[in-house]
Amino acid sequence: MIRLTAIDKHFGPQQVLRGVDLAIAEGQVTALIGPSGSGKSTLLRCVNLLELPHGGELQLGEAQIRFSAHAAPRREAVQQVRRQTGMVFQNFQLFPHQTVIANVMEGLLTVQKWDKARARQRAGVLLDKVGLAHKADAWPSTLSGGQQQRVAIARALAPAPRVLLCDEPTSALDPELAAEVVEVLKQLATDGMTMLMATHDLRLAASIADQVVFLEAGQVVESGNARELFTRPRQPRTAEYVATLT
Ligand code: ATP
Ligand code: MG
Repeated sequence: MIRLTAIDKHFGPQQVLRGVDLAIAEGQVTALIGPSGSGKSTLLRCVNLLELPHGGELQLGEAQIRFSAHAAPRREAVQQVRRQTGMVFQNFQLFPHQTVIANVMEGLLTVQKWDKARARQRAGVLLDKVGLAHKADAWPSTLSGGQQQRVAIARALAPAPRVLLCDEPTSALDPELAAEVVEVLKQLATDGMTMLMATHDLRLAASIADQVVFLEAGQVVESGNARELFTRPRQPRTAEYVATLT
């Protein structure tokens, strides 16, 4: 359902992704692990095309794009991909001057051009799903970090994306608040949401991921079933890295 083939990305002279291949089946959760600077965030941003790869191919649902260093992809194809992705960031990135429910409604109103009543209704359903219906009219700054991240998840889900991309969704949170967010993500996984998640959190990855991909210096060192990759990695580098995770 999502397939990346031979994805290359550089920033100036620095090659950040080198021929990355990745396949994610519908309803599966993939955890992306790897040292700082290995390219996890860049890879996520290449899936929703916040960054444009310089080579390779992306297939997401019916959208298929072949990248080249010389020509930008077709605008419609880029929009087709973006419409099918939702993104959750490490630092929530809620709009501070909008209430919780307005944050969740924003994309429905501006991108999807829904009318207010319909957007409010859907936002209410999503806030209920993340356990925050009672905070609909609160300001983001009055919420805990865990609550803010749950609002961010509701906002990312509002346009009903095919895949939810999460960039270290729990790493800015204390363990207790991280646990709230993990519960929400687990429920989404159980409901069949397709997710690609960069994380340093071994417990999160082990508890939620079907597939784990270990990235180092912009290359996939090893990928596979979560349990096997954590307990019986094939590559010595994977074993070394996994041992550093807590
Ligand atoms: P972390 O675990 O610290 O979040 P990461 O695996 O997400 O790391 P990336 O943020 O993808 O790593 O960065 C990969 C490399 O690309 C790093 O060397 C980084 O400095 C570089 N990089 C990322 N974004 C840019 C940018 N916009 N311009 C220039 N270099 C960048
Ligand atoms: Mg990152």
